[in-house]
Amino acid sequence: MRACEVCGVRRAVVLQRHTGRALCLECFREDIIARARREVERWGMIEPGDTVMLALSGGKDSYVLLDILPDVVKPSKVLGVSVIEGIPGYNREEDVRRLREVARERGVEVVVTSIREYVGYSLYEVVSRAFKRGVRHAPCTYCGISRRRIINAVARTYGATKVVTAHNLDDEAQTVVVNFLRGDIAGLLKTHPLHRPKAPGVVPRVKPLRKVYEWETAALAHLKGYPLQETECMFINMQPTLRARVRQALYEVEAERPGTLLKIMEALDEALRDLASSGGPERLGVCERCGEPTSPGRRVCKLCEILEEAGVARPIYTLRLPRTNGLIAEVEAASEAEG
Ligand SMILES: [Zn+2]
Ligand SMILES: [Zn+2]
Repeated sequence: MRACEVCGVRRAVVLQRHTGRALCLECFREDIIARARREVERWGMIEPGDTVMLALSGGKDSYVLLDILPDVVKPSKVLGVSVIEGIPGYNREEDVRRLREVARERGVEVVVTSIREYVGYSLYEVVSRAFKRGVRHAPCTYCGISRRRIINAVARTYGATKVVTAHNLDDEAQTVVVNFLRGDIAGLLKTHPLHRPKAPGVVPRVKPLRKVYEWETAALAHLKGYPLQETECMFINMQPTLRARVRQALYEVEAERPGTLLKIMEALDEALRDLASSGGPERLGVCERCGEPTSPGRRVCKLCEILEEAGVARPIYTLRLPRTNGLIAEVEAASEAEG
């Protein structure tokens, strides 16, 4: 095996196709840290005074985020949150236990909650109810919207100033292309790191891994020996079809011309820079049912809407959260839902 092309000393363990370099584990990790740090500094994602809430699913990207963040930036406090979806056969209890152990070794306390706790039903139960009523949103829609809401509520409760997600370059490139293909330019602008929604109760979300390839997070997690989720989500084949097709197409393009996704995202970051930040932060509205922030022009938030369609008329919308790390959590996370 050849030597690392950066340090010239240690054994190379990965071939980074977009740079053509063979790298050892240490230099590979340093390269990922450098890209994350560049994003964090360039867009002012996380500052030393921030209290950050890491959104941790328990997948490979979560472990990479936990692994590198302390070497990227030093916010004043770091907490984690993991939301159990409630999908049969998807062994989240066990995954979360391991995630918590690894996080604790890094001094990060992980708050665990679930869709069932917040909504009153598990993801599987919500999806089943919706299907019985002939409503055919992809399960990922219920999952994504619920998790996003819960993570924001938990972050707000613990006084976090930033939510940090572990989305990687592939995730972001897919979102960009899907928005583009739908002609959703507002959606496209929302993917830009300078896009900042503004409303009481919304904790800004940042993505330090947005320039790190998915194969890189998978390789780093594997090489560092992090526990990887063995079970697959039972809804994996019910993903929105457009996104699944875009994912496949981007894999093929990247395989043919390594570095393409990175170049597209770099070009878009610059091209959309002024547009994403012009007009100031996006002003969100307030849902007239639950009081949570909602997209401009909506009277009822997306979560209330899709839950009503699924026959969940009175979601609980509260969380019982532990006191942790000296931070005091209010028991009532969300404003009391009326009606
Ligand atoms: Zn090296
Ligand atoms: Zn609502």
